[in-house]
Amino acid sequence: MEEISGTHLQRKRFINYWEENDFKNIKPISIIPPTDWQSTLFVNSGLIGYVKIVKEKKRLSQSLTTCQPCIKVGSNKFSLDKMMFRDGYFSFFEQLSCGGGENISIEWFIKKVWNYLLLIANLPLDKIYIGVNSFSPEIKDYWEKSGVPNKNIIFPDPKAFILNLPMENIQGSYSPFYYDRGANHPLACKRNNCNINCDCGRFLELGDIGVIFLENTRIIDHGIGLERITSIQNGLLKVTDIREFSVIVSLLENKFQMTSPHFLTIADHLRSSIILLSLKLNPGNKKKEYALRNLIRRIFWLVSRIYGFDKGKIQDIYIQAAIELNNFSPYLEIDQEIVTSEINKEILRYEKLLKNGRRILKKYFREYKSISQFSEKELKFLYETHGLPKEIIKILLMENQ
Ligand SMILES: [Zn+2]
Repeated sequence: MEEISGTHLQRKRFINYWEENDFKNIKPISIIPPTDWQSTLFVNSGLIGYVKIVKEKKRLSQSLTTCQPCIKVGSNKFSLDKMMFRDGYFSFFEQLSCGGGENISIEWFIKKVWNYLLLIANLPLDKIYIGVNSFSPEIKDYWEKSGVPNKNIIFPDPKAFILNLPMENIQGSYSPFYYDRGANHPLACKRNNCNINCDCGRFLELGDIGVIFLENTRIIDHGIGLERITSIQNGLLKVTDIREFSVIVSLLENKFQMTSPHFLTIADHLRSSIILLSLKLNPGNKKKEYALRNLIRRIFWLVSRIYGFDKGKIQDIYIQAAIELNNFSPYLEIDQEIVTSEINKEILRYEKLLKNGRRILKKYFREYKSISQFSEKELKFLYETHGLPKEIIKILLMENQ
């Protein structure tokens, strides 16, 4: 189906709506976390901007809105592999976000969010489901007063998110909202008791509202996944059908004749690694640099399973995908030269690593058939002495079978 309103328009509509309600549009924070960033998850969210302001000024006097690009390569909930098999999860995604301090009433804010969903995003009322945790009965009342039918509110919702970061002095609770894609959706489990907490893909989590206490200041925060709302607004079957993603998928299917079940993963990793390289993050062996290297190497591995390790093919895929992506990236111009030169360097490193790995791991492979048979000590030794990370050992194990 042709997309009637792409991510660009969705971004604009969301920001305009909150600007009309006196929220100030601010520039998103850099997608690449600062060097002192503690999390290994490598993700930015809109909330981080507020944390900084509240820590400095002890309050949030100006309500803010932005569209925050994020990178996420796995979480407590899902590994990167598991993320790739769930519709709606990308390693690069954008979060429409807004929030305010104590001058904003929670009741008013929830009403405004509900109005946005109905009047700006034009979602049908009966398809939106909301979860509220047992600690926040007042949030349930506010949703109801805004017009949400009682049957569409799951309360108490055991999975509604509680945030508790005592070290950071941040506590709060989230009320997530979902879109019902219907019992006939290809990802729906068709069980009678399927609801927002079912693991199937019928109910797509669109976003949430959070009431958060930062250093005793109350913040209200709201986020919506840009790719998710765009897919729903356009009546698309899956989130991966949005244009800026499906152009890469089509490229892999049509130009490179890929039929691998992994082409969605390849498309995802191409998108995020090209964006990170264009932001001048170089692949490396630690934290965020390693996360990027790992994304690139996963592409090498998956492409190799189709064509064998064909350097020319990998280069060509990167070049073509970067050209496609350039039409969609609002934050930066895709730097073809940097992408090509860094990928070429990574190809050489990867080749060398595989060659060494095959030699070094030969004796282990006589006995070991899976990664779980390696002890922590052996994995540490292989990484520290021979530079062989777990991911490469896994690849060589598979090659050996
Ligand atoms: Zn289900």
